[in-house]
Amino acid sequence: MGSKLNPIALAIPFFFLLIGVEVWVARRRGVRVYRLNDALADLGTGVLQQVFGLALRAFTAAAYVAVFDRFALTALPPDSVLTWVACFLSVDCCYYWFHRASHEVNFLWAAHVVHHQSDEYNLAVALRQSALQPGFSWVFYLPLAILGFPPLVTFVVIAFNTLYQFWIHTRLISRMGFLEAVLNTPSHHRVHHGRNPQYIDRNHAGMLIIWDKLFGTFEPEVEPVIYGITRPLRSWNALWANLHPWKDLIGQVRRTPRVLDKIKLWFMRPGWSAPETIAPEPGYYAALDDPSFDPTADRPSRWLATTVFVLATALALCLIAGLVEGVWAGIAGVLIAAALAGVGVLLEGRARLPGLSFRREP
Ligand SMILES: [Zn+2]
Ligand SMILES: [Zn+2]
Repeated sequence: MGSKLNPIALAIPFFFLLIGVEVWVARRRGVRVYRLNDALADLGTGVLQQVFGLALRAFTAAAYVAVFDRFALTALPPDSVLTWVACFLSVDCCYYWFHRASHEVNFLWAAHVVHHQSDEYNLAVALRQSALQPGFSWVFYLPLAILGFPPLVTFVVIAFNTLYQFWIHTRLISRMGFLEAVLNTPSHHRVHHGRNPQYIDRNHAGMLIIWDKLFGTFEPEVEPVIYGITRPLRSWNALWANLHPWKDLIGQVRRTPRVLDKIKLWFMRPGWSAPETIAPEPGYYAALDDPSFDPTADRPSRWLATTVFVLATALALCLIAGLVEGVWAGIAGVLIAAALAGVGVLLEGRARLPGLSFRREP
């Protein structure tokens, strides 16, 4: 599926424009909402998701069409306003359950957690997405195919739902008055990204906060939010960001003694552990007052990281636009992943290159 049918890819220039606006407004207010290392890691995962999602999107779209063609109870008219309104509400409800399941089932969390790994909260975090998550999310929308929502209507509404969620990733908008009652707002979604105990696994909404209020997962923003996760990534490597959660889950399986519990673990809530599970290494959990992960890379490392990131993104855009195809697309995908992993190593101050210092402060 090319970029013409992928509104998210088409919106990339607007994402960067709004990130620029956020940086500008933050500067004027004298607050710092971005760190270069964190932002490049966020955007790197977004690039990986778009690149590796190319094949996946074609498959998931075909699956929806196949279910619609074979099992739809009826075919709702795409030219009726009622169809669109019903689809809007249904997609948002499906998104809520997909998102909630992603927080409450270990193997789904291993994919979704990428979105929550940042200690920051800004528009770049909105683009921090798992490359594997699109492999799971589509299943949650299949009931819509059976209910008779035409593929094009559903795809457009899902894209709109995803795009909506971009702007709410900001600390610069505090409260939005009466809109807070119905819409998912920056305040509600800040709570969702918090690791304060009362904020964990709350506010799973996409566009409408009503689902959280209806199904008992709503929490208002009261205490200042501490962003991030309880088992931190501690890396700027976008490729590792996607692999680390699976290594973590496999590590938990290894520490679980009984075979049945090992299987059960994949489907249990994150944080669940079977009796007699071996304790993890010290430092596995982050304390609430732990400082953010912020190793210092020297200036040449930062410049080289930024340059490599821009080149990798340019290659990714060529791929998304369909300018690179066949075996070359595969090679480009590997190159992009390797380059973004390299960006992470540079930003962590671990690069071993002549002319660059290896400074990294704890
Ligand atoms: Zn989430
Ligand atoms: Zn978010």
